[in-house]
Amino acid sequence: MTVLPGLIDCHSHLLDAMEGRWRAGEAIILTITQLGPSRRALLGAAMAREMLEAGFTTVRNLGHSGVNGDAALRDAINAGWVVGPRILAATRKLTPPGGQAVAIQSEGAEAIIAQEFLTISGPEEARRAVREALAAGADVIKVVADDGARILNAAEMKAVVDEARRVKVKVAVHATTSDGVKAAIEAGVDSIEHGDEATDDDFRAMHDKGIFLAPTLRTAETFRDLYLKPFSFTPEEQAGFEQAVKEIIDAGVNKTQRAAKAGVKIAAGSDMWQRYPGKTRGEATIPMFEALRNTGLPAIEVIRAGTSNAAELLGWQDRVGAIEAGKFADLIAVAGDPLRDISELRRVKFVMKGGVVVRK
Ligand SMILES: [Zn+2]
Repeated sequence: MTVLPGLIDCHSHLLDAMEGRWRAGEAIILTITQLGPSRRALLGAAMAREMLEAGFTTVRNLGHSGVNGDAALRDAINAGWVVGPRILAATRKLTPPGGQAVAIQSEGAEAIIAQEFLTISGPEEARRAVREALAAGADVIKVVADDGARILNAAEMKAVVDEARRVKVKVAVHATTSDGVKAAIEAGVDSIEHGDEATDDDFRAMHDKGIFLAPTLRTAETFRDLYLKPFSFTPEEQAGFEQAVKEIIDAGVNKTQRAAKAGVKIAAGSDMWQRYPGKTRGEATIPMFEALRNTGLPAIEVIRAGTSNAAELLGWQDRVGAIEAGKFADLIAVAGDPLRDISELRRVKFVMKGGVVVRK
């Protein structure tokens, strides 16, 4: 067996299992309105157990938990009520007015949005939102820098970071556009999630400021299982799908290679928020390591992205991410050598969290 530190997912959404056939906005609205907070909490408990059983002993949960459901799940796990990984909870995401991805124009829109997001406009609201998240038990602040034409400005982003820094809490930023990435870098956030439009200059600045990139990559298999299989496409539609997947994957490879070349620290984050037919949440999350390996990142760097690098990003390098005296006994074992074949991580045989055997 090969023994490794317990795996870390830096970008989980445990209180979500949305259908791949739904668009993101529909999925979020239906989850809020149809599932409701109680069933969603129980869903989170199931996802948490499935993550732990697959080898994830720590996750950073970055939003989509209803009103603070991830903090409740963390507390339930810590109290021993349910089984799951160590959780750093972000509570509600901070977003521009309107939330993220949801396009609702009805009378009750704001009330629905408030069940998933803390919306901000201006530095004072940004400060208040951070304080609200902290009051709700946030371990980390998640900010959505950009959603279409709604983009937080540098002053708002700076206010978020300043307020979080005062109490040594880290800031993770969803940024896909060039403007969003630049505002996040300028404010000195801790991680940029996705970073699709980041330029080489942006990556140099991220390296200089010690900002991590969580590229949130997926394999072609994952895209097909989630977004192709639920539909009956014509051959032409299927060809179009394959072309789109190829473009997304190529862009992810290009982005990650440029980041690595600039010396940016890479953290493994799945952004898995779907129900994955035939797979547990843990099994659905593990292929992110193969997606990282497919960028040409050496296997040891892929493992670091999900262990020691991830621990550093979380600020938990004194507790998790390595097998060392003084750290939690969070261990996994696989039968083969993941340095030769990263897909060995799909077949975790043994999981221990805090010295307690979870799976053997
Ligand atoms: Zn996400």
